[in-house]
Parts: sequence; C-alpha cells; structure tokens
Amino acid sequence: MDRKEKIVEILQEKGEATVKELANIFNVSEMTIYRDIKELEKEGYIKRKHGSVLLKTEEDEEKTKDKTCPVCEKVITRAHPYKISLENKTIEACCEHCGMILHKQYEDKDVFAITYDFITENPITAFNAYYVVGSSAKPCCSPSVIPFSDKEMAEKFVKGFGGKVMSFLEVYDEINKTMNLNIKSCCQQTETINISKIKKEAK
Ligand SMILES: [Zn+2]
Ligand SMILES: [Zn+2]
Repeated sequence: MDRKEKIVEILQEKGEATVKELANIFNVSEMTIYRDIKELEKEGYIKRKHGSVLLKTEEDEEKTKDKTCPVCEKVITRAHPYKISLENKTIEACCEHCGMILHKQYEDKDVFAITYDFITENPITAFNAYYVVGSSAKPCCSPSVIPFSDKEMAEKFVKGFGGKVMSFLEVYDEINKTMNLNIKSCCQQTETINISKIKKEAK
C-alpha cells in the first residue's frame, strides 16, 4: 500500500488529520505530505477544511454536480442564476425566461425572487426589476428576458437591441402565455452571443 492509500485509511479511521500529524505518522516532511494531499484532492478523495484534511462525503459530491434548470433542463452555467425562494428552499432557473415559467408553479405561494442586473450584475428583487423581453440579445432561452434595475438603462438597451421594456407581472404573463406548451423546444433556440460585447455597446 502506498502512502496516499494509507492517508485515506487514516482519514477513514480518524475522521480528519492535519498535514503535521500525517508527516509525523509517516516520518516524512510536511512538504511530502502536502504533495500527496494535493494529488488526493485532485483525484477527488479528500477536501481541506480549517487546516485539516478530511475525506470527501457524498454531500460534497452533490454540491459539485452540475445544476440543471428545472424548466428546460439546461445545465446552469451562469454565475447568478434566477433564484426563487419559498418556505425553506431556493430553486434556481437558468435565466429569467425560465424563472417566469417556474413562478407559475408557485403562483399561489409567498415567494421571494432575486435577479441580477444585466450590466452591473448587482442583485435586484425580481418584482422591482425592469425587463427587456424579446430583444436580439439571447444569452439563454428565447424569447429572452433581460433584467435591469434601472428603467432608463432598459430603454437604452431596447434602442440598441430591440425588444420591449416590461414590469415583472407583464413579463410573467407574456412568457407564460407564449410558452404554455412546448417549453423544451422554445428554450433550446439559442444563439451564441458575446455578453461583454453587448454590455460594452449598451453602455
Ligand atoms: Zn431553463
Ligand atoms: Zn434559460
């Protein structure tokens, strides 16, 4: 058995260990242990927490799994997906378009939703945001729904990329009206876009 395997065995027994403890056990330098740890970490066996080394749990695995949009099943790649919170859970949608469809499921519940300004990326309460619907910018699902905290900014965006500025409830109705049947095929219609280019042009 090599040292790395033994480290895993020790962690299984002890729960956790520091690099120093491991170095003492094997009578090698901390640097040597550090190198083993790095490799084990890369291979996905262990994690580090508060200076200790621990085995990875199934829960950790869950966290690193790709999240998919509950509406269109696309893998969520955005740093700030659309978030709906209710009771004690938060559900994320790939974009505002799917967020609106997701809201439909919780129409009669008290929910809180967060979106992020397209230009500044600052969080906004979804109900207070201005949305540009159906513009030529399609960062995710179409018709695209792009949030702004500022109405003027949204209107400026429309001048460059088309679409219409709407309030939360207007978008909600609009998207759910047009999307009632074939959600998957609609969400699949995406074009590649360069968000930073669009953002620059919109400034
Ligand atoms: Zn989606
Ligand atoms: Zn989407």
